[in-house]
Amino acid sequence: MKALRFYAPEDVRLEDVPEPECGPDEVKLKVKACSTCGTDVKIFYNGHQNITPPATMGHEIAGEVVEVGANVSGWTPGDRAQVIAAVPCGECYECKKGWMAVCQNQTSVGYQYDGGFADYIIIPRQVLRVDGLNRIPDNVGYDEASAAEPFACAINAQELLGIEEGDTVVVFGAGPIGCMHIRIARGVHRCGPVYLVDVNADRLKMSADAVQPEETIDGSQVDVVDRVMELTGGRGADVIITATAANITQEQAIAMAARNGRISFFGGLPKTNPTITCDSNVVHYRQLHIHGANGSAPEHNKRALEYISTGQVPVKDLITEHIPLDRVLDAFSIVKAGEAIKVTVVP
Ligand SMILES: [Zn+2]
Ligand SMILES: [Zn+2]
Repeated sequence: MKALRFYAPEDVRLEDVPEPECGPDEVKLKVKACSTCGTDVKIFYNGHQNITPPATMGHEIAGEVVEVGANVSGWTPGDRAQVIAAVPCGECYECKKGWMAVCQNQTSVGYQYDGGFADYIIIPRQVLRVDGLNRIPDNVGYDEASAAEPFACAINAQELLGIEEGDTVVVFGAGPIGCMHIRIARGVHRCGPVYLVDVNADRLKMSADAVQPEETIDGSQVDVVDRVMELTGGRGADVIITATAANITQEQAIAMAARNGRISFFGGLPKTNPTITCDSNVVHYRQLHIHGANGSAPEHNKRALEYISTGQVPVKDLITEHIPLDRVLDAFSIVKAGEAIKVTVVP
């Protein structure tokens, strides 16, 4: 079968590998859709400390069950399934507290376990043990289901933000995850006006056409903090989500937050430059709440599938490109150039 194997930074090969065999504690899927995101591009160029080459990439996976190990119950060939990417251990202090997104022994599909840019994938025992293989509702397509993983990360982040009806929300980053954040804030939390910020006018327009924020703000043209202050009558934004790796957006988020404002530092910063300047007195006197966000728990993946199924948070229109596995490296270029909202690879 074909698989996209990571050997070293910028040495990623689509090659023929033996079809994997299903062990007694495992499930084998025929991959039907594996979506791409910025993380794939990051791995392509920089590798990752948790990847021991060669390894098959791809972590946003949906497929059809084709084989079930003798010791596994609950699955039958023909079942449609979505796979978690972040795999908690289920046993550490954090997991026992129910904080599976911050498991200290977290492993990942597409890192320690071979991923979904391939014709077939083995779902390891570690995934099944934490209930990380999810049934796809009948009315949800494989491509949509593959987007449940990034969607789950956004659900995890927003759970911490206590978004209330009518809250003003600012989202930095007009990528797929920024779009999903807007849809969740509206569809699940019934927020008020949403302002979408980016420094790339084309991407801003493409995403705004899909999710229709009340206003887009091009950070390369205007002072983002001033504009949000104007739009909110000087009060500031109630909720700010930085779905980008740009340090300045975190500083701008603090500067534009309303009293009792809640901020999610959703996107991580570059490892080589992870610090920002924070006026601590602004945080203190305005009583700001600043949250981190680290991936998702299995339960968030289930909820994502449910929101897609009920129509509360649609994702179908965010998947703007379907690309065959043979052209998976083109998919990476499209993601890198920001020319599509979400690109799904279909083996
Ligand atoms: Zn991803
Ligand atoms: Zn754990």
